[in-house]
Amino acid sequence: MKFELPKLEYEYNALEPFIDEATMKFHHDKHHQAYTDKLNAAMEKHPEINVRSAEELLINLDSVSEDIRTIVRNHGGGYINHNFFWKILKANTEISGKIKKEIQKKFESFDKFQEDFTNASLGLFGSGWVWLVLNNKKLEIVSTSNQDSPLSFGKIPLLTIDLWEHAYYLKYQNRRADYVNAFFNVINWEQVEENYANAIK
Ligand code: MN
Repeated sequence: MKFELPKLEYEYNALEPFIDEATMKFHHDKHHQAYTDKLNAAMEKHPEINVRSAEELLINLDSVSEDIRTIVRNHGGGYINHNFFWKILKANTEISGKIKKEIQKKFESFDKFQEDFTNASLGLFGSGWVWLVLNNKKLEIVSTSNQDSPLSFGKIPLLTIDLWEHAYYLKYQNRRADYVNAFFNVINWEQVEENYANAIK
């Protein structure tokens, strides 16, 4: 099975000034492409693996042949995490609907949610991701290291921020807090709402 780098559903500059065009180009065309290529190179060694999606590989990591398991974890994770990340980015959407209610219920207010999500993002050591997930039908903020996916831990991703330096260093250098703050301006709440609706099914 061969995986393809998905095209962005918007222009590279669509998230300016919060996420800059140059970062989007390198991030999508170089970094995401590299994860895709390395995942495909590993899969070529095991043509017998038959899955409908790359997500399935990460959900059932233990069933992936041991000789490529780490590559699938890292590069398969990188592949699906970025597929997911591009979709939850969009300019000018507003939180509404069920996800708004659930966030307010769980975190007391949207501001408190943003504060907790930001603190988790600033507290993450090294490279990784911070997520809003559904875990046993409950909202939860979790961190993963490197390219680990919450799917490998039985949790369903709703929203995420890429905290690898490649995601922000060109524009923000060491100012991770500024990047996290900017990120909140380009969350695609329509997609997050859809992710939530699918997750509770
Ligand atoms: Mn990345």
